[in-house]
Amino acid sequence: MTDLTSLTIAEAREGLTNKSFTARELTDAHLAAIEAARVLNAYVLETPDRAREMADAADKQIGKGEGGPLAGIPLGIKDLFATRDIRTTACSKILGNFVPPYESTVTSQLWRDGAILLGKLNNDEFAMGSSNETSCFGPVVNPWRREGSNTHLVPGGSSGGSASAVAALLCMGATATDTGGSIRQPAAFTATVGVKPTYGRCSRWGIVAFASSLDQAGPIARTVRDSAILMRSMAGHDPKDTTSVNIGVPDYEAAIGKSVKGMKIGIPKEYRLDGMPAEIEKLWSDGAAWLKAAGAELVEVSLPHTKYALPAYYIVAPAEASSNLARYDGVRYGLRVPGRSIGEMYENSRADGFGDEVRRRVMIGTYVLSAGYYDAYYLRAQKVRTLIKKDFEDCFAKGVNAILTPATPSAAFGVGEKGGADPVEMYLNDIFTVTVNMAGLPGIAVPAGKDAQGLPLGLQLIGRTFDEETLFSLGEVIEQAAGHFTPPRWW
Ligand code: GLN
Repeated sequence: MTDLTSLTIAEAREGLTNKSFTARELTDAHLAAIEAARVLNAYVLETPDRAREMADAADKQIGKGEGGPLAGIPLGIKDLFATRDIRTTACSKILGNFVPPYESTVTSQLWRDGAILLGKLNNDEFAMGSSNETSCFGPVVNPWRREGSNTHLVPGGSSGGSASAVAALLCMGATATDTGGSIRQPAAFTATVGVKPTYGRCSRWGIVAFASSLDQAGPIARTVRDSAILMRSMAGHDPKDTTSVNIGVPDYEAAIGKSVKGMKIGIPKEYRLDGMPAEIEKLWSDGAAWLKAAGAELVEVSLPHTKYALPAYYIVAPAEASSNLARYDGVRYGLRVPGRSIGEMYENSRADGFGDEVRRRVMIGTYVLSAGYYDAYYLRAQKVRTLIKKDFEDCFAKGVNAILTPATPSAAFGVGEKGGADPVEMYLNDIFTVTVNMAGLPGIAVPAGKDAQGLPLGLQLIGRTFDEETLFSLGEVIEQAAGHFTPPRWW
């Protein structure tokens, strides 16, 4: 029998229904793989007892022919999702050993459909970062290495644990969140598929908030089909999230294999950056050629405000973060560092509990929201955001079905290699992804090739609001043409 951990979700679903193996066997295979891969630091909490309990329950349901759409599928959960009675930290020291008495809507839907929790996955502290190096649990290691090198590379961030675990076969799929690129960039760095749904598609309830007007949950999986399967369970209206949209959840999987003939695909000229590596250029034109060969029509489009997206994001996101993170005061959650007065206690707790990057965001956010600067920064950034959104709307109004871009400006880099002296160097990772969050649109990152050092590279497709289905159809065309990429096992 092939190693159970290398199956896709679609294959495992079939094997479980045919009784080729049990959910318990599938779960045990993953638990063993996790144990053998601790060097990757992908999991910050393993929950083997809970996993086996859930697996046995799934086996019973499957036995009765009553298994849900994800019955027996072992998943990893980003530590930003509240899991009832299971430690949830957002990988911040300030949450300490916080154990939520409630379950996030997205994860509760996964359990409703029969999925199994293997454990909680590492991420950048409060999802702020692009390399998973800001986690209080330490960096995650990418299972991919440069050919002939032992250097540890980052898996991207902030959903680095999710991406690394999926790529290294430590779970069949994972939840992730994306505020500026945190699903798509790590997916591109690890040759996995990452979907950032339309804002409002997945409930944010029970997910630790970073920047509420940008945050969206979505899946990371090994194939486009698997990501569609997970999306169906994760999406849906939730009255507990006022920004959740009440429209039906389609059968995303049905979009796989649908013809893309006649679709108009936009190639935005503003994404062609000066000094863009030739490998990324090639990847992009390969992707365009594959879509063309499948019958799509390629058109050049213009998104003129693209260059303002990253600066505007670094005003809007920290502003919202500074307000969301005000709740961590040493009183209600986790860490408390005493002081002579309550004010000093707040200060001590926040100074000790938050890492450098989080403190930087809180300071920027507080500054741009302060009296006198609000109009110049925050209000201005909101106006820019509207223009970015309008760029996309104009493009879609001309009949464009989706937009094709590179997912990232480079392949994965080494641990400690970027952003040490200049945080902007790190922020630039999201140059192709933040626009999508600013506009609230859906985006998918699909593995599409490798660079000269053998590292994976991804392409991004951006869709119309609530048209994730087109992204799945197009994503699968790219996947079929590019093939699958698995990191050689060294751990
Ligand atoms: N890298 C971006 C940031 O640090 C995006 C993070 C995310 O999407 N959560 O803000």
